Amino acid sequence: MAKDIATLGRTREILEKYGFSFKKSLGQNFLIDTNILRRIVDYAELSGETGVMEIGPGIGALTEQLARRAKKVVAFEIDQRLLPILADTLSPYPNVRIIHQDVLKADIRRVMEEEFGGIRDVMVVANLPYYVTTPIIMKLLEDHLPIRGIVVMLQKEVADRIAAQPGTKDYGSLSIAVQYYTTAETVMTVPRTVFIPQPNVDSAVIRLTKRENPAVDVIDESFFFQVVRASFSQRRKTILNNLTNQLPNGKQHKETIEQVLTELQIEPRRRGETLTLEEFAKLSNRLVKEWKEKA
Ligand code: SAM
Repeated sequence: MAKDIATLGRTREILEKYGFSFKKSLGQNFLIDTNILRRIVDYAELSGETGVMEIGPGIGALTEQLARRAKKVVAFEIDQRLLPILADTLSPYPNVRIIHQDVLKADIRRVMEEEFGGIRDVMVVANLPYYVTTPIIMKLLEDHLPIRGIVVMLQKEVADRIAAQPGTKDYGSLSIAVQYYTTAETVMTVPRTVFIPQPNVDSAVIRLTKRENPAVDVIDESFFFQVVRASFSQRRKTILNNLTNQLPNGKQHKETIEQVLTELQIEPRRRGETLTLEEFAKLSNRLVKEWKEKA
């Protein structure tokens, strides 16, 4: 078996061979601890029948561990300078395909159809670029991809927001979106010392398992998320004020919004951050009817 990429010695050797310099703006912090990588892969519960989608392979440290256990690995990398390096480091793994593309601009569903024909079990596994963690997670969820789940390394602060419960300062639209589509667990916290260069925040690994059906029944998903975003737009304002100011034609509907809140026993002076997922669902299901009737 080839020597692991994820050691300090081998990583330095590869970087020197290619004269590679890190781009901070692309969130390039490479992992140099094989044990941590193996544990990440363990949490993804791969089999020889699993297809894995990776975001940001870097010099291939995680990709190689995935390739050893999955049927196929497809990895999106934005930095062209890494392509020749990956062609070299991953040459022992014919089941890896690198796609040179910004994952946020990619048509992931189409890539999955093209690359994973015949594969029914797909996981997303990555050490994410931290400058775009939230948009990447939101895209993976909102695109309704046919995946089993997501295991990713990210900033601990974002992991805390994802798992947050109502009434806490971390609770917000991200917590709600993730908990709506998945069950979320923080499975590992990771010290800065296992990366080069070291990031200036602490890291964690989360596992998101896609729910068969969303956690709550919602009539109109896009309106539900509009209500959620509106409710958190100014955290210090009441739910009534935020909905009135932020929903389309909200000001005209102020009385209706107040009436609906009262009917649902949601005190209009509460703040959005105190509402549970169930309350947001009830509220948006009731409001969407009013909006449609009055449109
Ligand atoms: N997987 C490697 C590891 O664990 O050592 C590298 C992880 S590093 C934190 C993030 C990687 O994502 C870098 O290789 C970076 O170039 C790449 N990247 C950054 N933004 C990206 C984007 N929008 N789309 C695809 N890849 C991106």
